[in-house]
Amino acid sequence: MEEEKKNEVEEEEKEEVKKDSEKEQEKDRFGRTLYTATCSDCGKETKVPFKPSGDKPVYCMECYQKHRPKRSF
Ligand SMILES: [Zn+2]
Repeated sequence: MEEEKKNEVEEEEKEEVKKDSEKEQEKDRFGRTLYTATCSDCGKETKVPFKPSGDKPVYCMECYQKHRPKRSF
C-alpha cells in the first residue's frame, strides 16, 4: 500500500514540471514563438523564430553572420 502512494506522488510531480516548461515558451521581442534548434555549423543550441524543418541548415547568431553573403563596401 505504501508503495502505491509513493508512485502517485511521483506522477504528480512530473506533471507539474511539464506544465512549467510549457509556460516558459520563449518569445522574441516581436512576440514570435522561438524554437530550439541545433546550429548546423558549430552544433550549438540556438533559438530560431521558425520551426526547423530539417531540410535547411539552421545557424546560431554567430554562424549566421559567417554564412550570410558579405556586404560589398
Ligand atoms: Zn553556430
